[in-house]
Amino acid sequence: ESFDAMGLQENLLRGIYAYGFEKPSAIQQRGIVPFCKGLDVIQQAQSGTGKTATFCSGILQQLDYNIVQCQALVLAPTRELAQQIEKVMRALGDYLGVKVHACVGGTSVREDQRILQAGVHVVVGTPGRVFDMLRRQSLRPDYIKMFVLDEADEMLSRGFKDQIYDIFQLLPAKVQIGVFSATMPPEALEITRKFMNKPVRILV
Ligand code: AMP
Repeated sequence: ESFDAMGLQENLLRGIYAYGFEKPSAIQQRGIVPFCKGLDVIQQAQSGTGKTATFCSGILQQLDYNIVQCQALVLAPTRELAQQIEKVMRALGDYLGVKVHACVGGTSVREDQRILQAGVHVVVGTPGRVFDMLRRQSLRPDYIKMFVLDEADEMLSRGFKDQIYDIFQLLPAKVQIGVFSATMPPEALEITRKFMNKPVRILV
C-alpha cells in the first residue's frame, strides 16, 4: 500500500512526501482512509507508530480551505505534544495553506486570542487552555466538524476528564471523533461509548 492509493488531495500528498515519508506505517495504512471518510475511529496505538500523521492527514484532507474557521480540534495531554502536533500539521498541510494554532497553558492568553481572531482552520491544544478559549468565545465551536483526543489515556490519568467532557458539550452534535490511546482504561471506554457513533476500532 502507498499514500498514493488513499485518494488524498494532490497538495496533501506533496506535503507528506516533502516531509520525508515514503510509505505509510501500519496505523496509517489502516487509519487514514476511514478517518477521511468521516467515520469515528478508535486507534489503540503507542507513540512511535505514526499516529500523528494519521489524524493530521485525515483532518487536512477534510478541511474546507475556503472558510477560515476552526473546523478541527485536537486535544493532547502536554504542551510539548500539542506543539509537536502543530508542527506536523503545519508541515503536512504546507501546500494546502492550512492555518494551525496551538493553544497551551503557560503562553499569553492575549496572543492566543489575537491569533484565533485572525482565523485558523485547526486548533491543537491542552484541555485547560482550549476550554478557556471556548469559554471566552475566542474559539468559536460552530464550524468544528472533527475532534481528536490524542493520548486519551494519558489525558485521563492527568485529571483532564471533566474538562474533556465540558469541551464535548460545547461542540456541534455531529462532530467526527478520533480517539488515540496506547491503552483503553474504563474511563477511555466510557468516552468512546458516550460520544462516539459506531466507531471503527483499529489495533496496531
Ligand atoms: P508518532 O507515532 O506520530 O509520534 O510518529 C513517530 C515517528 O515516526 C515520528 O518521528 C514520525 O516523523 C515518524 N513517521 C511517522 N510516519 C512515518 C512514515 N510513514 N514514514 C517514515 N517515518 C514516519
